[in-house]
Amino acid sequence: KQTGKNKLITFQAMPLLPRFTSQIHMETDLRKAITENQLCLYYQPRLELSTGHISCLEALVRWNHPLYGMIAPADFIPIAEESGLIIQLGEWVLREACLQKARWLAQDKLDYQVAVNISPCQFQDESFADKAIRIIEQTGIHPSYLEFEITESSIMQNMDKTIAVLDKLCAKGISISIDDFGIGYSSLNYLKEFPIHCLKIDRSFVKNIQSNSNDLAITNAIIHLGHALNIQVVAEGVEDVGQLDILKETTCTTIQGFLLSPPVSAYEIEQTFHMYDNR
Ligand code: C2E
Ligand code: CA
Ligand code: CA
Ligand code: CA
Repeated sequence: KQTGKNKLITFQAMPLLPRFTSQIHMETDLRKAITENQLCLYYQPRLELSTGHISCLEALVRWNHPLYGMIAPADFIPIAEESGLIIQLGEWVLREACLQKARWLAQDKLDYQVAVNISPCQFQDESFADKAIRIIEQTGIHPSYLEFEITESSIMQNMDKTIAVLDKLCAKGISISIDDFGIGYSSLNYLKEFPIHCLKIDRSFVKNIQSNSNDLAITNAIIHLGHALNIQVVAEGVEDVGQLDILKETTCTTIQGFLLSPPVSAYEIEQTFHMYDNR
């Protein structure tokens, strides 16, 4: 676990953007990256505290640039969104996550859901739900193996359209989680209107949960809101045992973060987490 953690830190600390002479340069390279197989997915596990089982693996995209090495999503997702490339990139991510899930199913291992991040731009795309369902069906896996992580800003844009899209995805068996919960819009009304399975407490609240009583109060409130509405709650960004202990006291049921594992390659997930397999 320790080596993986160190690896991620070096990875994030690399000075990346200065290597691209312009945004256009990056766009051109990113377009190529999607078609020339330079993208890859890392997976970060979610742990259910009550059972000690992994419940889900979140797929997180990385760009292995032929000259510049590994590039973190924070450095290229915004460019992908501005240029519209996010649609193609998002389709690649969904397809690859499904294909990986299909490989694990064929090998009868890692029987977990896979969570895929959906950018607000993707979610706004008229044909998003149909395209997503088609991609999943093409790979032959059942849609109930998938969870889509969407942000509050995605769903608040056009409530009527959103509910139709979410209902369509849900009818196929896809789970929906709200990512970075607590930092977006303050309206909570949508929680009772929309078919939502899970809230992911933004890691900014978890970060100082030991020292900041406001962050603890907010975390507590989100967890109890989840219990009351029968929606799962995941605490993101759990890095140490101190945070974990407090989260247990708040009756948090599921955690994700460096404490358990950073995002790692599919191969590393297989090596590290095969013994957690639920069956
Ligand atoms: P996110 O969806 O909130 O993903 C969680 C991010 O937090 C990941 O960064 C993960 O490595 C990091 N993280 C996990 N546990 C910890 C922890 O304990 N401490 C700290 N400090 N960080 C932790 P990553 O992989 O660099 O991704 C950053 C963001 O990029 C993601 O935030 C997501 O918004 C976006 N992203 C990543 N992959 C995709 C993708 O395939 N599609 C889209 N649309 N966005 C993506
Ligand atoms: Ca996420
Ligand atoms: Ca789930
Ligand atoms: Ca998040």
